[in-house]
Amino acid sequence: MMPTVQPGRIEVITGPMFSGKSEELIRRLKRARIAKQRVVCFKPDIDLRYHRSAIASHSAQTHDACVVANVERLREALFTQIDQIEVVGIDEAQFFDDTLIALSLELMHLGKRVLIAGLDTTFAGEPFRPIPDLMAIADEVMKLSAVCMRCGAPAVHTQRLGGSQELVVVGAAGMYEARCRAHFEPFADSEQLELPTAEVAAKM
Ligand code: ADP
Ligand code: MG
Repeated sequence: MMPTVQPGRIEVITGPMFSGKSEELIRRLKRARIAKQRVVCFKPDIDLRYHRSAIASHSAQTHDACVVANVERLREALFTQIDQIEVVGIDEAQFFDDTLIALSLELMHLGKRVLIAGLDTTFAGEPFRPIPDLMAIADEVMKLSAVCMRCGAPAVHTQRLGGSQELVVVGAAGMYEARCRAHFEPFADSEQLELPTAEVAAKM
């Protein structure tokens, strides 16, 4: 009889910018390592804010990570060492495409614990795929809030500051802040009146 593999699990950590997603991912990865589990972490190469070889939080916590261009590269990097890995962390997962959903399920069926951190909404306040899909198929979802920079209330939105129409404006200093629902103003400083298409928003 074929040996049966116990299924793993999919855990999603989400919320706006500054809500502590990377901190929480790093915390879970460090605890897994304390439990002597073999851990590997990835991030898309769009996010090179602080480190090329680590994920980092706004509070300067870090964890080693492998930078990959897309899901296919992530898969290749992973499957060269798949038998040695027990926990897979992925930060800024909103910058990967929908093929991350199938890969996450595949890893879970191979018995891996998959930890995914990413933005749930765009700067326009729309769902930011593939995070909503991953939330739907996850075993566990942690939805975090940040602190509104206007009033101190819990913030569920990422406010883009200034009128930049550039599609890719990643974490540039002062470009974004957390806002509560009352103070969220999508495109407040912009000439653009229509919300971007999902395709445009996905490249934010
Ligand atoms: P995320 O990955 O969700 O963007 P991080 O884990 O990188 O968040 O950073 C969370 C940290 O950011 C907090 O612990 C705090 O030190 C800092 N921070 C800065 N601005 C805010 C804010 N508006 N609300 C909450 N935390 C903030
Ligand atoms: Mg982060």
